[in-house]
Amino acid sequence: MIADALRSRRWLLWGALLALVVALLAVLVFLATAYEQQRDQTALEADASGVASDIRSGLLRNVQTLQSLHSVAPSADAWDGPAAEMLASHREIVRLEWRDLQLRTLAQRDTPFMAQPFGQLDRSQARPDVQQACDNARRVSGPAYSPSYFWPLSDGLGMELMEMCLPVVRAGSTSGYLVATYGLPGILAELTTKDFLRGRGLAFTEPDGTRLALHSSVGGARRTLVATSLLDLPGHTLMLRLESPRAVYALFPNVLTAVVGVLSLALLAVLGLLAHDIRRRQQAEHELADALAFRKAMEDSLVTGLRARDMDGRITYVNPAFCQMVGYSTEQLIGSGFPAPWWPPELVDEYQQRQAVRLAGRDLPREGWESVFQRSDGTRFPVLIIEAPLIDAQGVQTGWMSAILDLTEQRRVEELNRASQDRLQATARLATVGEMASLLSHELNQPLAAISSYATGTLNLLDGPAGELRPDELHQAMRRIGEQAERAGRVIKSVADFVRRREQVREPVAPHSLFDAIAPLLGLQAKKLGIRVHTEIAPGLPAVQCDRTMVEQVLLNLARNGMQAMPDGDPPTRSGLRMLTLSARLAKPWTDSDRAPRKAWVEFAVTDHGQGLAEEVRNKLFTPFFTTKAEGMGLGLSLCRTVVEQHGGALVHETAQPRGTTFRFTLPVA
Ligand code: ADP
Repeated sequence: MIADALRSRRWLLWGALLALVVALLAVLVFLATAYEQQRDQTALEADASGVASDIRSGLLRNVQTLQSLHSVAPSADAWDGPAAEMLASHREIVRLEWRDLQLRTLAQRDTPFMAQPFGQLDRSQARPDVQQACDNARRVSGPAYSPSYFWPLSDGLGMELMEMCLPVVRAGSTSGYLVATYGLPGILAELTTKDFLRGRGLAFTEPDGTRLALHSSVGGARRTLVATSLLDLPGHTLMLRLESPRAVYALFPNVLTAVVGVLSLALLAVLGLLAHDIRRRQQAEHELADALAFRKAMEDSLVTGLRARDMDGRITYVNPAFCQMVGYSTEQLIGSGFPAPWWPPELVDEYQQRQAVRLAGRDLPREGWESVFQRSDGTRFPVLIIEAPLIDAQGVQTGWMSAILDLTEQRRVEELNRASQDRLQATARLATVGEMASLLSHELNQPLAAISSYATGTLNLLDGPAGELRPDELHQAMRRIGEQAERAGRVIKSVADFVRRREQVREPVAPHSLFDAIAPLLGLQAKKLGIRVHTEIAPGLPAVQCDRTMVEQVLLNLARNGMQAMPDGDPPTRSGLRMLTLSARLAKPWTDSDRAPRKAWVEFAVTDHGQGLAEEVRNKLFTPFFTTKAEGMGLGLSLCRTVVEQHGGALVHETAQPRGTTFRFTLPVA
């Protein structure tokens, strides 16, 4: 609703502006036209009075010339020559007469440019006009004119004539009159400037507008400007009419109006452009507002904290997620500098230093760095900070923008994972141990049986005839009993050691001591299966850095698997292949990586001559719970690989010669 009202108001304003501009233009055009017309009219009037004064001075010149006619021609006979000359050079004069005081004609002469102007009507008809002019002349003792009158000519047309009477003065008194008859068309033609009148109309008229004599007229029905001027002559006044066509007859009658028009059009065009520009600007504003709203929604929905700092390290922006993270409001945070409110008090110095180093350096690590923040309630939480320079539209750095991730949840999940991993390992170890224990309970029977039979033998010796009692035999039997008891004890201890859950300790361990530790346990099973256990330790082998118990378990597992691959009669005893080989030697130097310093490794190998690994078994060998044995758990090999890899080594297997399998693994030299 409001938007509609605003829009219609805007249109109304634009409409009003347009109407005003158009009205202004119309007034301007009208005024300019009126002004120019006025100017033309004034100029024409000035021209008209100029023409009038031209004629007046022409007539005056003629009077002077006529006066001089009498000073050179005093007699009637001598008068004719100069008069003819005068008429030849003055076309406007139709007739010259010399009359006495009673107006009787003494001499006369007609213009050579007309055939008998007084042929149609007798000259005496004009006598009243001559009389009037000369009466006036006598009265003013100077030249005087008669009113104009129409004189018919022999060609059927006629002409307006006018008499001029000039008193002839001899020895101080008037002796007669010189009468010049003027043709009005002649006056217009001869006493005006021709060029000046080109394209214009000039005429003598009566005061009521009746045309008396026409020199020229404005052709066509075009609109004209008209100016009149009075030609005041002694005795008579004539009206002169000057006509001129208007200069321009288009919509814009003259230059000024045209200029005003063009300027107005330009103004309208500028207005149009302005309106267009305003519309585009409004559109851009809309788009900007939309983009801002979109950005705001995006920021508010983020779980990542965002923080912007200026070049002095003062906060200029924080998003809601960051405020929630540190427990301060936006108002509390904006403008705060170092130390930041979320820095743990005892770490302020360290953070301050770190900040200085970081903000001085240009290249900030893309992967960010970890830190600890303190909430407003005092609790701490780990964060990951990713910082980037803030560049404005001109390409100048104005500060830094940081994204802050709360790592609390991630840390909790990691901790959970680690704990469950530990538990899994313990369970796996227990499972193996359970399996082992059942084997042991069975296997311990052997040393115990041996002990019991040695004991029985000894007792028999003691009970026998005294003379046959041989102390060395007795001694040996007792030593065997001791050995067997010790062996049983070691078996039990190794299991106990293994079962006890211990912290991981890495220590330097001599390879042969690892073999020794598992030997009693291996011996039991080997003996039962009729398998020879053979150990090969390269001379001068260095100690390895390892968790002794775990590595022993690896060796035990591999050896046990090897023996289980050689059940009774496969391979047969005669083949001489019923043999398990445990070996240790220095591995070839690790050269495939240039980055790590060359490390020395000890390689352990367990070789059996059993059935070998079938294709489908080989693929799943290290998969937990994969087993082919009825009482197997399928955890042994996967556990072995985990342990070896935790030590940085690798566990591999290959086919042994002439049959069977070799498992190899490496451990770092201490
Ligand atoms: P388990 O011994 O409990 O079955 P392991 O992970 O130790 O579990 O072994 C998985 C499987 O790998 C065994 O069931 C067996 O089929 C095969 N295997 C392991 N070692 C050997 C070996 N030396 N020779 C032949 N097969 C073997």
